[in-house]
Amino acid sequence: MAVMLEVNNIEVVYNDVILVLKGLSLRVEEGRIVTVLGNNGAGKSTTLKAISGLLKSEDGEVTDGSITFMGKRIDRMEPENIVRMGIFQVMEGRKAFEDLTVEENLLVGAHTIKSRKQIKKDLEMVYHYFPRLTQRRSFQAGYISGGEQQMLVIGRGLMAHPRLMLLDEPSMGLSPMLVGEIFDIIRRINSEEGVTILLVEQNARMALSIADHGYVMESGRIVLDDEVEKLRENEDVKEFYLGFT
Ligand code: ATP
Repeated sequence: MAVMLEVNNIEVVYNDVILVLKGLSLRVEEGRIVTVLGNNGAGKSTTLKAISGLLKSEDGEVTDGSITFMGKRIDRMEPENIVRMGIFQVMEGRKAFEDLTVEENLLVGAHTIKSRKQIKKDLEMVYHYFPRLTQRRSFQAGYISGGEQQMLVIGRGLMAHPRLMLLDEPSMGLSPMLVGEIFDIIRRINSEEGVTILLVEQNARMALSIADHGYVMESGRIVLDDEVEKLRENEDVKEFYLGFT
């Protein structure tokens, strides 16, 4: 399988002094779901932001190593150009535009698409994956539930036709039933739309249930990586991430 994303030995520093990623490497092959597991503060969100170029707005910087997407260096690129190349990050904490309606939020995601016919088709595709949003299309996003807002930001990402979607803790704060629903949709977006997924999660059980390959991260480094069938059987993963003793 072709390597789509290659993060090679990166170091990330915040505010010129705080070293958060200490030589982190990972790769994502085209068409797969890859997950990064790790505790609070391990540096998972930082890893995604380094890839999408969003670190700069938080005074963070990739100070060493390289990030390559589809054979092209992206670690010095502006975030809007990274989006144009096909990488879309769904940020942690459901950042919907609360004053806009559900449909207006989706249309924001389509701003790079010129054809109105295409946009209409894409809206239908998003409503097909998220029937709950269809019922809410004219509601202000601030008034829909947390789970629906999470669906909305994933839907907004889909409108931009990403090749690689970066998902930061999509399960956060949601009921187990909704988590199941969202993970099922993520799996379908991968298999039916062909979107490659890099998923950061604290909910290791769910993440390992849909991913093909997983990385385990501790204090800014990868300490373990394997195909998920193997990770699920790994004693450390069982003990520290899946809660078996
Ligand atoms: P969480 O699940 O809590 O988001 P995480 O694994 O995603 O954890 P990060 O959010 O990447 O971890 O944070 C890693 C470390 O970097 C933490 O120690 C955090 O305090 C620090 N950090 C994150 N963002 C900044 C920032 N903007 N400025 C300074 N330090 C930061």
